[in-house]
Amino acid sequence: MKWDDLIRPWTSIAKGGAQSFRQLLSPPTTIFYPFEPAPLSPRWRGPLRLRGVMDGLEPPVTDAPPLEFNDLMNDLHDRQRIAPCQGGCPANVDARGQNALVAAGRYIEAYNVVRRRNILPAVLGYVCNNPCEDVCRRSYLDDPIAIRQLHRDCYEVYDREVRYPGHLQSLVCRDEHVAIVGAGPAGLAVGYDLVQMGYRVSIYDRERLPGGLLVTSVPLYRLDREVVAKEIRDLEEMGIEFKLGVEVGKDVTLDELRATHDAVVVAVGYSGGRTLPLPGSEAPGVWSALDFLYAYCMGKEPRVGPQVVTIGGGDVAADCSRSSLRCGATRSVIAMLETEEEMPGQPIEMDGAHEEGVEFMHRWGPDSIVVEDGKVAGIKLKKVISRFDESGRWDPRFSDETTMVPCDTVIFAVGQGLQIDFLGDRAWSSTRWVAPWSTRVPGTVECLAFSSPATWPPDRRP
Ligand SMILES: Cc1cc2nc3c(=O)[nH]c(=O)nc-3n(C[C@H](O)[C@H](O)[C@H](O)COP(=O)(O)OP(=O)(O)OC[C@H]3O[C@@H](n4cnc5c(N)ncnc54)[C@H](O)[C@@H]3O)c2cc1C
Ligand code: SF4
Repeated sequence: MKWDDLIRPWTSIAKGGAQSFRQLLSPPTTIFYPFEPAPLSPRWRGPLRLRGVMDGLEPPVTDAPPLEFNDLMNDLHDRQRIAPCQGGCPANVDARGQNALVAAGRYIEAYNVVRRRNILPAVLGYVCNNPCEDVCRRSYLDDPIAIRQLHRDCYEVYDREVRYPGHLQSLVCRDEHVAIVGAGPAGLAVGYDLVQMGYRVSIYDRERLPGGLLVTSVPLYRLDREVVAKEIRDLEEMGIEFKLGVEVGKDVTLDELRATHDAVVVAVGYSGGRTLPLPGSEAPGVWSALDFLYAYCMGKEPRVGPQVVTIGGGDVAADCSRSSLRCGATRSVIAMLETEEEMPGQPIEMDGAHEEGVEFMHRWGPDSIVVEDGKVAGIKLKKVISRFDESGRWDPRFSDETTMVPCDTVIFAVGQGLQIDFLGDRAWSSTRWVAPWSTRVPGTVECLAFSSPATWPPDRRP
């Protein structure tokens, strides 16, 4: 052994000891955070309330029953008293309340504060794109508070200390019975609000597992299915009944549901996969993103060749390309219309794909799929000139320049479609956000609900 190797650990210990000793002798300091630079608008004073926590005061929590919550948010917004994180969160989760409770060591209460607005706190702790952190005022000082990660921490404590079977009680106390079609996040959220108001709720889903795209499409390496299952089991304990493997329109009709329930909510999401009608797109080896991810997530082991091209520039394209590597591909390419700066996918997803070896082709659009001997042999791409017309409308234009990328599998991650044939010729009027339609049956309320990862801030609610 070298002399230096022997001395170095002891020098390090001595240095550490000296530092600790200095800390012991220095007077304690309290940092009031965040220190915000003077020019900041006085309306964003929310986080300063954390001082109250430090002074031992009760952490401030925004709370109201489901029906009143939106009014409360609107009121706070009008008075410019809403914390940026809460205003920035699509579900208006009280992130500041969570953080304050965590700061006070009250993790279980923090978990419940989040769950009041967000039925699956831990799931969002894994996969939320955390717009709350983008507007966090702590960024003025250094980095935003890790709100999303704290969801996970609170979940872990809750799971360890509280979540034993039967730890929740049914909230149902009324006779009125509501049917919900679709056990995705939208259906679960509606169901949770309804049981909180005491209604009986039955959620119908054609899959044998509740959770919607969270279980059928979000890749396993990003979201642990056990976490989804545990949080949904809690909803069951609160009184929500699940009728799984029942496809509305096939196993039961909408009219049958209407006849046996007091209200019906349709929350079927955008659950149809989409490809583009290009030459060759019917060939075996061409997938829509949803069909491919469904097969991958549900253990059906989709067959992909060694070379895969994914079309699309969003998060779903990143999910497909990364999943294809896990299905055995040795080369995975994402081709998109956008430049690197314009990519709609989140940096974290795109960087993840890049780190795993996915190649990116920017400003290329699909022209046709080359099929040889009945199989995909490549994809012809054409160079993008522009994506929008003069008035700013989506209207991609291409030059004559083309290139051929050899591949065995093509995945289209170009959006999803509605599957609402079971509604028949029922008229429904679509607004941009929500599509309600009225019924002629007195006392029956029907509502068509779609959710997306980003819903609306209070001033833009329908
Ligand atoms: C690949 C992928 C990755 C994603 N990653 C993220 C992410 O990281 N973070 C994020 O916030 N969001 C993410 N999303 C988006 C998120 O999954 C969706 O916004 C969300 O699932 C929409 O919820 P929903 O309840 O409206 O619809 P869905 O989740 O689609 O649920 C609809 C449910 O209705 C059921 N259904 C449909 N028709 C019928 C019928 N006739 N009868 C009975 N049941 C029916 C379906 O089986 C399904 O379970 C991702 C989406 C995809 C596709
Ligand atoms: S992590 Fe997502 S769900 Fe949680 S507060 Fe932020 S935006 Fe809302």
